[in-house]
Amino acid sequence: MPRKIGVLGAGQMGNGIAHVFSAAGHEVRLYDIAESQLAKAKDTIAKNLDRQAKKGAIDAGQISAILSRIGTTTRLEDMADIDFAVEAAVENEALKLELFRRLDGIAPPGAILATNTSSIPITKIASATRRPEKVIGMHFMNPVPVMTLVEVIRGHSTADETFAVTAELVARLGKEMAVSQDYPGFIANRILMPMLNEAIFALYEGVASADDIDKAMKLGTNQPMGPLALADFIGLDTVLAILRVLHDGFGDPKFRPCPLLVKMVNAGHLGRKTGRGFHKYD
Ligand code: NAD
Repeated sequence: MPRKIGVLGAGQMGNGIAHVFSAAGHEVRLYDIAESQLAKAKDTIAKNLDRQAKKGAIDAGQISAILSRIGTTTRLEDMADIDFAVEAAVENEALKLELFRRLDGIAPPGAILATNTSSIPITKIASATRRPEKVIGMHFMNPVPVMTLVEVIRGHSTADETFAVTAELVARLGKEMAVSQDYPGFIANRILMPMLNEAIFALYEGVASADDIDKAMKLGTNQPMGPLALADFIGLDTVLAILRVLHDGFGDPKFRPCPLLVKMVNAGHLGRKTGRGFHKYD
């Protein structure tokens, strides 16, 4: 069973992934190109652990040990002794291909390299390495410490053993797995993104205000948050990137991103993480 876990990218998903692996007793090495993101991630993890302790989900006495198991680095070379990696850098294909090419040259040959990509083909990411049989999709949901599901996606060459180790890790984290074949958007995003995009089209076409669209879907279809609030929560840049992958991957106009979404991303209004998206945040 992998002991030392490398997490690449310390944004909202990376910090959550580091959190749950460390809480399950693994040693974690968290890597990002930005020192500021690493500091922010450690801070977020500490706050989230405190919140979990207050709710009684974890024992407060464990917090310092969980935090001390997470080391941070801006040097990819520090992945030289990991057993298992989960990549959670920005959703950009060229960037992920380059990162996997470099990681493949640094991580031990036996290490499994997983990606948390929301939509980029696992098979393509695997092809950037010399170990495609050890590359797999491990798609956590946001927020990672709260959401139970992990989609596990087998690339074209993923070995049975790679799949078995990943499935066992999911169970060790106390999470549930849904297994998907490697097609655009896998399961959840293929179904979710057209709904978010349609909510944005409804706003764009003046059907209703953002508040009313969210209210109708939240109270009318019993969802925990409305689709525009959810898009803000995911990050509008990530939503746009996933829609583009779905649109390209299927060649089907039903996935075309709403021009309003493109405009918001161009304006830098990316949702919660920038304080402004379809709604405003403090
Ligand atoms: P984010 O913008 O919060 O964080 C991305 C991080 O990647 C940043 O800290 C950035 O500094 C870092 N980064 C940029 N270039 C890098 C590089 N070359 N090497 C290492 N780190 C680099 O994004 P996020 O929401 O955490 O998404 C990360 C990944 O997780 C994406 O692939 C996304 O599709 C996927 N994902 C996101 C969600 C979600 O709800 N946001 C859910 C599931 C999966």
